[in-house]
Amino acid sequence: MKTKFQADENGYYGEFGGAYVPGILQQCIDELRENYRKIMDEPSFQDEFNQLLRDYVGRPSPLYLSKRLSEKHGCKVYLKREDLNHTGAHKINNAIGQALMARRMGKKRIIAETGAGQHGVATATVCALMGMECVIYMGKTDVERQHPNVQKMKMLGARVEAVTSGGMTLQDAVNEALKDWCQHPEETHYLIGSAVGPHPYPDMVVRLQSVISKEIKAQLLEKEGRDYPDYLIACIGGGSNAGGTIYHYLDDERAKIILAEAGGLGLESGKTAASILLGKPSVLHGSRTLVIQDGEGNVMEPYSISAGLDYPGIGPLHACLAKEGRAQVLAVNDNEALQAAYELTRMEGIVPALESSHALAALGKVRFNPQDVVVLTVSGRGDKDMDTYIQHMEA
Ligand SMILES: *Cc1c(COP(=O)(O)O)cnc(C)c1O
Repeated sequence: MKTKFQADENGYYGEFGGAYVPGILQQCIDELRENYRKIMDEPSFQDEFNQLLRDYVGRPSPLYLSKRLSEKHGCKVYLKREDLNHTGAHKINNAIGQALMARRMGKKRIIAETGAGQHGVATATVCALMGMECVIYMGKTDVERQHPNVQKMKMLGARVEAVTSGGMTLQDAVNEALKDWCQHPEETHYLIGSAVGPHPYPDMVVRLQSVISKEIKAQLLEKEGRDYPDYLIACIGGGSNAGGTIYHYLDDERAKIILAEAGGLGLESGKTAASILLGKPSVLHGSRTLVIQDGEGNVMEPYSISAGLDYPGIGPLHACLAKEGRAQVLAVNDNEALQAAYELTRMEGIVPALESSHALAALGKVRFNPQDVVVLTVSGRGDKDMDTYIQHMEA
């Protein structure tokens, strides 16, 4: 059955999605669009992908019942532990899948852009594993801010290109990566790290991440005797960990969906990344979606304490889920996320990524029934955020 929550052949989810790319990139996008489903459906691709997810990433990631969060929130809270994956987050699932696909399409070179460096590290890791050439575009400002990740990418064998155009951040890195792709379309695959960009990226990335909800189904069946929860909760930057968490439940309304986006300093503060709650339809990075804009319709500089959520748009699937009322979207401010991180750390001995802390803070904003089963995805671990956590910790 086709619903609005599956991309149509042109990559639309209702009014959102599509592929808005310059003519010169059309051929790359066409090649990918014509091949990605075919390749993903090949048994040999599935075998190779699943084997790496198991033996290299360490999947399945545990579904852990947090007794203390359950007590506090008056329901059963399960944590889906993507933080335990190799390299510390869910991003590796997608990076492996796309690299395998690129190889099958005869590509020898991978390019990617990165802001905070998380996607750059995941991509460089997979390129090391598969012996592929890797070029990571990163704004010069970010290169300076994210020094340890830059060093890690270099150690992994990637070339890190510091981008000095524009504001020297993520937006400019995307532009440079696109320019590179135009110049080397034959041998290069552009590995996008979230459920954003032109079709087929949002659909492809969510499918590659859908292993998360596939595992949740099996794990819930074993632990609860039913394969669906009452609530699924995840944070959204571009939407890949959330997309993977909800994929196999999109058409199962018994599972309510709650998406936590970055409120930053508050919805009214002008310093926010709440692109669903505040965004208006526009085209960003090749796709029609919700984008936070200023009075003149320019893309607003997003802000969040969490680098992974600091994005002015959102994947088209999630824009559609919100518009159709299938997902409830909550904004979580910096302070609320920090408090949720301290709480999980003290209650469970798990230091979550700042991004995941936004999902954790959403727990406090929902009224649950005692019999409710809640699955919350901890998208990554907090090692990378230790400086921020320590800086904000009250003595
Ligand atoms: C990148 C990142 C995110 C945000 O990306 P999505 O595509 O929305 O999942 C969330 N959590 C962690 C740990 C990340 O590294």
